[in-house]
Amino acid sequence: MISCVKHLQKKYDLVSLNSDHLSVELPMVPYYIHKLLHSDKGSKLFYITLLPSKFKKSASNLKWETILESNIDESDWRTYNIIPFRCTQSTELRWLQIKIINNILGTNYYLHKIKASDTPLCSYCKTSNETVFHLFWDCNLINRLWKKIEEWLMLDAGIRVELNPQTILFGLKENRNDPLNIILLLIKQTIFRNRKYGIIPDQNYIFRICCQYYYVSKCIAFTTCSYDQFTKFWSSLHTLFA
Ligand SMILES: [Zn+2]
Repeated sequence: MISCVKHLQKKYDLVSLNSDHLSVELPMVPYYIHKLLHSDKGSKLFYITLLPSKFKKSASNLKWETILESNIDESDWRTYNIIPFRCTQSTELRWLQIKIINNILGTNYYLHKIKASDTPLCSYCKTSNETVFHLFWDCNLINRLWKKIEEWLMLDAGIRVELNPQTILFGLKENRNDPLNIILLLIKQTIFRNRKYGIIPDQNYIFRICCQYYYVSKCIAFTTCSYDQFTKFWSSLHTLFA
């Protein structure tokens, strides 16, 4: 509240020099306070005043660019941050994706650093450090799994998708690809969960996990009278679960 008032004061001290803001009201109320008190947009004015207008890359964004050896636009980062909120209502999946984007997922490498794991090595291949990048892309065993997923999507849904580190880690940018973003998230969740067994999830297991999510979403759509939205959302992938 105080920060917002300070920002508005700075902004309107300059504006108030113009004659249209000089009308005097009694009791005397500064213009910026008047604007704040009489805003009919609720907290929107607070957001507009306090949020920086330009998106800036975070330290984790820059770290990912170093790991991936590529420059990612600010607008792409902004989209990547929105994708988990756009494509699913599951807080668990959203939280997983936020941890990936911020490179703070509790993999063996990071857990070992804080003495919470005996080994920093990958739970699957047991030869390299289990970083987020290794776990979801660099590991040979996981890489083979992504190839199978590409084939599955092509054969059963006729969708050709090129899974590269950026799409796997952060998702596909276009809204129309949100059903695929859910599938990618479910696979990443399964890979992360299966670490404790050290067994790579096979294609059938992943298919069952995706089916379960699809049919639960369908039930929710029936009960909330939003079946049309459900049908439209999954239009490109219905054949996968038919
Ligand atoms: Zn590995």
